[in-house]
Amino acid sequence: MDLYGEKIGNLVSQLSRLPGIGAKSAQRLAFHIINMPHDQVVALTNSMINAKENVHYCKECCTFTDGDVCSICANEKRNHKVIMVVENTRDLAAYEKTGKYDGVYHVLHGAISPMLGIGPQDIKLRELMVRLAGDVDEIIIATNKNLEGDATAAYISKLVKPMGIKVTRIASGVPVGGNLEYIDEVTLLRALEGRTNL
Ligand code: ZN
Repeated sequence: MDLYGEKIGNLVSQLSRLPGIGAKSAQRLAFHIINMPHDQVVALTNSMINAKENVHYCKECCTFTDGDVCSICANEKRNHKVIMVVENTRDLAAYEKTGKYDGVYHVLHGAISPMLGIGPQDIKLRELMVRLAGDVDEIIIATNKNLEGDATAAYISKLVKPMGIKVTRIASGVPVGGNLEYIDEVTLLRALEGRTNL
C-alpha cells in the first residue's frame, strides 16, 4: 500500500475489516471514496456515526431500533401472544416483507454453535425467557435450517415446553442450509403456515 501513501493505506485497511470486503474491494472502495464529492463523504461518515450512536436493541424483541421499542413491538394491532424467534434482523425483515405475519418477533443475534464456541449465553435467549413470563401462547422457532439453527431450536424447545407454551418450528419448505434472507416470500409463507409442533 506504500505505493499510494499512508493515508490511502489506512483507509484500505479500515475498509477491509468489513465483512465480505477483501483487499481488492477495499482498494476499489477507497479510491471511489477519494473521488466522491466532499459533502457526500461527510454525509456517509456522519450517517455511520449517527447510526452507531443512536441505534440499539429494542428492549422487547432485541431487533435494532432508534427508539425505546421498535415499531413492531409498539404496534397494538400485532398479536403479542405469538413470538417468532429469528437469528437476526435480516430474517425478521424477510418475514415482514411477506406482510402476512401479525405476531411479534424475538431476535437472537446468532445461533448456538458448539463448533464456534457460541453457547446459549452468547445469544439473546435470556431476554426471550424474560418475555415468556408474560402472556404468550406460541413460540414459532424460525432459526435457519442448518446445524446451528436446529441446535438452537432444540435448546429453546427444551426450555420453553415445560412452561406450557406451544412451541412450533417452521416447515422444511426452507431448503436445508438455506439462509432465510435469500428465500422468496412464497417459500417463507409456506414454511410458516406448515409449521409443526416441537
Ligand atoms: Zn421490538
